[in-house]
Amino acid sequence: MTPTTAQLRALIVNLAEAVIAHEEELSDLDRAIGDGDHGLNMKRGFGAVLEDIDAIAGQPLPDALKAIGMQLVMKIGGASGPLYGTLFMALGKGLPADGISRAALADAFSGAVEAVMARGKSTAGQKTMLDVLVPVRDALAAGGDDLATRLPAVAGEAADATVPMLARRGRASFLGERSIGHMDPGARSSALLVEIVCAQVEGWP
Ligand code: ADP
Ligand code: MG
Repeated sequence: MTPTTAQLRALIVNLAEAVIAHEEELSDLDRAIGDGDHGLNMKRGFGAVLEDIDAIAGQPLPDALKAIGMQLVMKIGGASGPLYGTLFMALGKGLPADGISRAALADAFSGAVEAVMARGKSTAGQKTMLDVLVPVRDALAAGGDDLATRLPAVAGEAADATVPMLARRGRASFLGERSIGHMDPGARSSALLVEIVCAQVEGWP
C-alpha cells in the first residue's frame, strides 16, 4: 500500500484532530493516576503536527512519520513525548520508501515498539502504552484477514486490560497499589491512535 498525498494528509489530519478531540478523556485518566496533563500533552504535540501539515504531508510516508515524531518529541512536555516521538520516528525509519506490504509494516512496527521499550526502559505488563502497542504488534505480525477491524478491537481490549494492573513505570508507579483500578492514559491514547489509523487506511491501495 502506498498512500496518495491526499490520503496521507487526510490520515494525519484525522489522527491529529481525533487526539485533540479526546483531550478531556485522556487528561481525566491521567488525573486519576498521574498529573492530569496527558490530554494537554497530546493536544500540544498533535496541534504542532497540524500547524506543520503542509510540510509533513508533502513527503513520502516514511519521512512524514519521522517529521511527526520530531514534532511530538519537541512539543510534548511529558514522558509520553519522547516515547511517542520514538515510536513515529522509528516507524518512519523502518518502512521502505515505496510499496509497503503488511509484512514490511509489521517489521517496522515491531522495531518501533522495541525502540519505545529501549527508550522507556520498559516492557509490557507495567501498565503503560506498551500494554497496547505489544499486543497490536503481535496481531499485526500474525497477519490474517480483516486486520483493519481486528487491530482496533485488540487495542481497545488491551487498554481495558490495564485497569487491574499495578503501574511499574511512569508517574502512576509512584502510587503503588493505588494505581490499580484505573485505565492507563497512555494505553488509551495508543488504542485511540490504532483505531483512527485503521479506520483511515482501509481505503488505501
Ligand atoms: P507524564 O507522565 O510525564 O505526565 P504523560 O501524562 O503525557 O506524561 O504520559 C503518561 C503516559 O506515558 C503513561 O500513561 C504511560 O502510558 C506512558 N509512560 C510513562 N512512562 C513510561 C515508560 N517508561 N515506558 C512506557 N510508557 C511510559
Ligand atoms: Mg501526565
